[in-house]
Amino acid sequence: MNARRLQAVIPSVAASDGAGVKLRRSLGAGPNQRFDPFLMLDEFFSDDPSDYLAGFPSHPHRGFETVTYMLDGLMRHEDSHGNRGDVGPGDVQWMTAGRGVIHSEMPQQAHGRMRGFQLWINLPSREKMKPAAYREIPSGTIPSVTLGGGGEARVIAGTLEVAGHMATGPIAGLSTEPVYVDLRLPANAAITIPLPAAHNAFLYVYEGDAVVDDDERALPFRAAGLLTPGDGVRLRAGTQGVRLLLLAGKPIGEPVVQYGPFVMNSPREIEQAIIDYQRGVLDAPA
Ligand code: MN
Repeated sequence: MNARRLQAVIPSVAASDGAGVKLRRSLGAGPNQRFDPFLMLDEFFSDDPSDYLAGFPSHPHRGFETVTYMLDGLMRHEDSHGNRGDVGPGDVQWMTAGRGVIHSEMPQQAHGRMRGFQLWINLPSREKMKPAAYREIPSGTIPSVTLGGGGEARVIAGTLEVAGHMATGPIAGLSTEPVYVDLRLPANAAITIPLPAAHNAFLYVYEGDAVVDDDERALPFRAAGLLTPGDGVRLRAGTQGVRLLLLAGKPIGEPVVQYGPFVMNSPREIEQAIIDYQRGVLDAPA
C-alpha cells in the first residue's frame, strides 16, 4: 500500500453563523482553505444554550450539497420544497441544494448538549442547477464496521473495508463518490484503511489523539489534516483513544466562486443566484 501521510493542516477557527451559533470552522474558514470537492467543515459543540439557541433561520443555498451529522441534540430542518424533519443523535441529513433551496435549521432543545458537524461538498458545473434533493438518514440505518480492540467505524457514505470487514453507507451514486466515516479507536489501536487513490482525503480529530503512518506527531486537534495522495491510510490512536472523521472525495477540478451560501463556477453565475433569490425564484423548477 502506498500509505497517505499528513500533508497540510487547516486549523479550525472560532466562527459564528446563522443567527449567532458559535462553532469551529476548519475547511472554508478562508477562500484558499478548501480541499476539492470539500468546501467547508463546521463543528458545533456546546453545553451552553446561548451558543446555539438562535439556530439557522431561513437562508438560501445553490450549487452544492450540505451534510449535517448530529452527535448530540436535536435540530429541525424545514425547507421551501416542503421537506421537514428532525435530525437527532447519530442521524444524518444529506441535502443537495442544486439550483436552489431555502431552509431553516433550528435547535429543538432549550438546554443540554448540542454537538455535530456540517460539511459542504461541491457539485460539478453540470449538476449545480439540478433539482434540489433532501434525504434523512436515521442513525439506525447507518452501518458500522467493528474494528479490532473495540473500535467502530460508522459508514455514512462510500464503502469502507478494514481487515476483511466491509460496510457501504446509505449514500451512493454521487459524482464526487464521497467517503464519510466516523471512526472511534480505543487507546493505542492501529488500523489500515484502503481509500480510492484518486480521492482527496482528510481527517478531523474531535476527541483524543492519533498519529498517521507511524509519524510521531499527533494529528492536530479540531483541525482538518489533509493527506497526501495514496491508496490507503494507517492510523494509530494515542493513549486517550481517538474519535475522528475520515472524509474523501473525487476532486472536481473546476473554478470555485463562492458568495456566502452560493457556490458556483463564475461571478456571472453568482450574480444570477442573487437575482433569482431576490426575485423569489431561486428554488423554482427549471
Ligand atoms: Mn443551510
